[in-house]
Amino acid sequence: MTYRSWLECIRGCGERHSIFDVVYRCERCGGLLDVEHDTTALKDRSPSAWMQLFERRTRTTEWPYGSGVWGKKEWVSPEIDNDNVVSMYEGHTNCFWAERLGREIGLEDLWVKLCGNSHTGSFKDLGMTVLVSVVRQMIANGKPIRAVACASTGDTSAALAAYAAAAGIPSVVLLPKGKVSTAQLIQPIANGALVLALDTDFDGCMRIVQQITEDKSIYLANSMNALRMEGQKTVAFEIVQQFDWQVPDWIVIPVGNLGNVSALGKGFLLMKELGLISKLPRIACAQAAHANPLYLSYQQGFQELVPVTAKKTLASAIQIGDPVSYERAVKTLAAFNGVVEQATEDELANAAARADRTGMYADPHTGVALAVLLKLVDRGEISRADRVVVISTAHGLKFTAFKVGYHEGTLDDVASRHKNPPVELPADYDAVQHAIDDAIR
Ligand SMILES: *Cc1c(COP(=O)(O)O)cnc(C)c1O
Ligand SMILES: [Zn+2]
Repeated sequence: MTYRSWLECIRGCGERHSIFDVVYRCERCGGLLDVEHDTTALKDRSPSAWMQLFERRTRTTEWPYGSGVWGKKEWVSPEIDNDNVVSMYEGHTNCFWAERLGREIGLEDLWVKLCGNSHTGSFKDLGMTVLVSVVRQMIANGKPIRAVACASTGDTSAALAAYAAAAGIPSVVLLPKGKVSTAQLIQPIANGALVLALDTDFDGCMRIVQQITEDKSIYLANSMNALRMEGQKTVAFEIVQQFDWQVPDWIVIPVGNLGNVSALGKGFLLMKELGLISKLPRIACAQAAHANPLYLSYQQGFQELVPVTAKKTLASAIQIGDPVSYERAVKTLAAFNGVVEQATEDELANAAARADRTGMYADPHTGVALAVLLKLVDRGEISRADRVVVISTAHGLKFTAFKVGYHEGTLDDVASRHKNPPVELPADYDAVQHAIDDAIR
């Protein structure tokens, strides 16, 4: 059986393109495109046959199927030659039982999916392996592509630069000057990208990169590009696989440009269509109050998106006021009985710190998700026995200045309730002993 996928307009006007065409929007109606799969062909294997295949490939070294993304290749990008896959064995991130944090907040079955335990430290690797592989195949087929380019709040450019470097393809990244963490800025620099720091915000960078990529020899790698979502949707497959093919009750996910939540939904819907699961989880989208256009639209019943100027937030990767995948996300939230909630700077920073006290090392975006989780539990929307999975989108080590600022008590708009600064002492036995006795009874 040959499996096939193609790009199709999400507004249902019927326009289709090959995944190897350089096109990011419907040329007929201007809608976004999504990758669609020939699900009739995919039904040639039974649900249990797919499960067995996926289990067998998990973490093997058989190229490229040991990757969490490429282990599901038939469901992700079946037309790619294995020789053109650009992978660093992303995915298969740990999903762990956050027992102590759960108990503290009144949940028996709280889990955290650590998508930041990945090659460049965020879930963006999942999408970039697919996009860069498609570009490599286009180049192999003679398409005149000079470079890949993106606008980024930090993690997208880190992933793009790494995968492009692995493939030997030049990359160009547009970053808002002074608005990404040092770790995020240095990653594309280290991987040899052309790094352009612009005096604007993310939305400003996004506008310019769209103009730049009207030149079809520079391929756009932002998440309006549907290929990214094909890789990112594998997080849904992984979660279900990690629970022995059971579906959790809730997924809480921090959102900005709204690509990742759309991808998450896409993954669940495909599993349902192919019969691997029979129900869907509910989805809670978590936004920073400083960048909350989805939250505001949710409160109006999703009548329209009113773009906002995103204010500075510690959750810098979601400081986005005009989310590209709004239409996709609204469809997802309708299918998953979704809710949207927001978190202030104080709430996100303290939620991250509280989680850290139970052994995590939460980045500020995961802090947004955890703060929203607390609210949903407090108001009874999520109940005690529900199985809840929080998507942790990046590694805390990418956000050292956030951690330092929190524990020094110097973050704007944040009262550090769980701060734990070092105790400075002379090199003296008595002083040390007293300090220990004071702190630990
Ligand atoms: C990109 C990113 C998000 C948001 O994902 P969207 O697809 O833009 O909604 C959240 N957290 C982190 C750490 C990210 O890098
Ligand atoms: Zn269309």
